[in-house]
Amino acid sequence: MMPDRWLEAHAYFRPLADLSAQVERAVAAIDVPDARIPDWEEYCADFLAGVPLLSSADAAIDLEPCGQMARALLERLASGPSWGSLAAEARALETELRREPQFSRRIADFLLGDETLTLPFPGLLRYVAWTATARFLRPVVNAFDGWRDETRWLRRYCPTCGSLPAMAQLAGVDPGRKRLLSCGRCSTRWQFKRTGCPFCDTDSQRLASVTVESGLRIDHCDSCGGYLKTYDGQGNETLLLSDWSSLHLDLIAYDRGLKRLAASLYDFQPGGTSGVEARYTN
Ligand SMILES: [Zn+2]
Ligand SMILES: [Zn+2]
Repeated sequence: MMPDRWLEAHAYFRPLADLSAQVERAVAAIDVPDARIPDWEEYCADFLAGVPLLSSADAAIDLEPCGQMARALLERLASGPSWGSLAAEARALETELRREPQFSRRIADFLLGDETLTLPFPGLLRYVAWTATARFLRPVVNAFDGWRDETRWLRRYCPTCGSLPAMAQLAGVDPGRKRLLSCGRCSTRWQFKRTGCPFCDTDSQRLASVTVESGLRIDHCDSCGGYLKTYDGQGNETLLLSDWSSLHLDLIAYDRGLKRLAASLYDFQPGGTSGVEARYTN
């Protein structure tokens, strides 16, 4: 499915599609330092103990280059054609970042959960910094996919960065059909049990599901009221697992009183002429 065809049917996503395209172009234009591939044998004990790759001292992945990349991205976005208030917000954030001593180290810590970095537009910083990080980590994530025995993880959080999933995907055909969880931050996909809720770890009840449109559905849990947007197919991962392209599912879930427990870089509000207004989180 081409994004253009998708957008014809979902015109209210045009602003987010434009934002996403603009950020992708900016990422393609900045320098990407080489990421060192960890020694998997060194990391293995932590992996078996459930320690995500980025939290493992033995894997020793340094995210400081992501801070430099995030700043380069902000500079580009600040001077580029503006998507809504994007250029102005990027400029304000970049100006503040200049005043921050050791900003790249601070951003690396921020990515791993340090809350002490107080800057304007933290949602934009999170969005830009994780976009840079996903690009930086791409060779590591690919190598990790190749090394990892999926059946030894099966945890509800991302094996690379520790985030809760943004979405799920059902891939393959029965009897070997698998459910993968998809990380909205670092873009890792990992295997999880077919039934069961990744937010409360309940396995006794199957998730109930609502099909919204061909290929996309909402699986929800009676125990915790959480839900997971699920792409029921293969081949259109880039678009349909991007999280922003299914914010209308979040709106439907919201209308049903379900709770968004997924980790997302995007936010939405009911309202506006299109029924949904969406942007990166505040
Ligand atoms: Zn992740
Ligand atoms: Zn649950």
